[in-house]
Amino acid sequence: TWEHVQQAPPDPIIGVNDSYRADTDPRKLNLGVGAYRTEEGKPYVLRAVREAEAALAADPAANKEYLPIAGLPEFNRLSRELALGPGHAAIRDGRVATVQALSGTGALRVGAEFLAQHLPPGQPRVVYVPNPTWGNHKTIFGKAGMQVREYRYFDAKTRGLDFAGMCADIGAAPPGAVLLLHACAHNPTGVDPSPDQWRQLLALTQEKRLLPFFDSAYQGFASGDLDADAASVRLFASAPGPQEMVLAQSFAKNMGLYGERAGALSVVCRSKDVAGRVESQLKLVIRPMYSNPPMHGAAIAARVMADPRLNALWKEELAGMANRIKAMRQALYGQLVARQLPGDWSFVLKQIGMFSYTGLSKAQCEALTRKWHIHLTMDGRISMAGLSAASCPYLAEAIADVVAT
Ligand code: PMP
Repeated sequence: TWEHVQQAPPDPIIGVNDSYRADTDPRKLNLGVGAYRTEEGKPYVLRAVREAEAALAADPAANKEYLPIAGLPEFNRLSRELALGPGHAAIRDGRVATVQALSGTGALRVGAEFLAQHLPPGQPRVVYVPNPTWGNHKTIFGKAGMQVREYRYFDAKTRGLDFAGMCADIGAAPPGAVLLLHACAHNPTGVDPSPDQWRQLLALTQEKRLLPFFDSAYQGFASGDLDADAASVRLFASAPGPQEMVLAQSFAKNMGLYGERAGALSVVCRSKDVAGRVESQLKLVIRPMYSNPPMHGAAIAARVMADPRLNALWKEELAGMANRIKAMRQALYGQLVARQLPGDWSFVLKQIGMFSYTGLSKAQCEALTRKWHIHLTMDGRISMAGLSAASCPYLAEAIADVVAT
């Protein structure tokens, strides 16, 4: 029956882990992973998470019953408050429909499926995503039945934002089109709009009547401050209107809950009545896909957000992770400058979040892996979280070598 089945290509991001594992050289370095590592290169479980887990394990009232289709109500409430800010008018008015999701990916998928089914009849089912964007975005929206188009985003010359190109492409989108925006720490480029550019993007979105869909996978992880990293989402959600929008949240990075698949999807509606109906339809999307979401990660996240002591500890640890990444940017930049590489490498300092987009060519990336045992995606993206003070000089030496040849 399956003899005709073709070998599928490996996932370009997950495949990096495989090539790293297979490499036996002791100097090997994994800069492909989208997961935080300690200075010692180890995965990190937050103390706030460990303590929440211990409290859950000791709770005699806890059980393993199914969650509701929409997930853990407390988690949903706290998640949208984390993004919009507690006491936000949209939350107070009850116009935000929130469902728990299988981390950020699941939130995007449920959101995309809902849009494909429930955008107004006659309106184009089209989503605009940045070029480049996280590799999974196009597939997620495409599989859900949305047409995917790109808007210009990254300027290879400046290794910064092509804001004029971005505005031109967004401005040419048909009314009612969905506009996917990375809330902060754009993946893979690490390049975000400035506060003033965000305001211009909001004005453009309103003028063209586009529907903003925020992907928030790094709140608090980018700057170390949960509120600062929510600025774009809050700006849009607070626009006079009342503004509608969709929001996918992931707790993979900011709480280190990668494998627990804790996430949320919120749809900000014009009224409480609409939000109630939207939630009922989100449940119809979820039920035939996986019935109801997993409990453990959401229970941890809810506890960490709700308990003042754990919440304070979480914020401290978040700042710790963000600061270590910033320190790695400084260290790598220092090493690159010391080697007097041609060109301006200050983008390493300017880019935000877990990744830096180096602009290295595919051939240079291949040489990094083949000659230097440095594993990364072939688009030149490196995970700053995979670096340590000890490995920065080695990476700089390797980059200097592949840039020179
Ligand atoms: N969106 C972006 C921009 C991401 O970088 C990621 C993770 N790499 C995700 C969504 C989804 O991650 P997860 O499903 O693990 O929450």
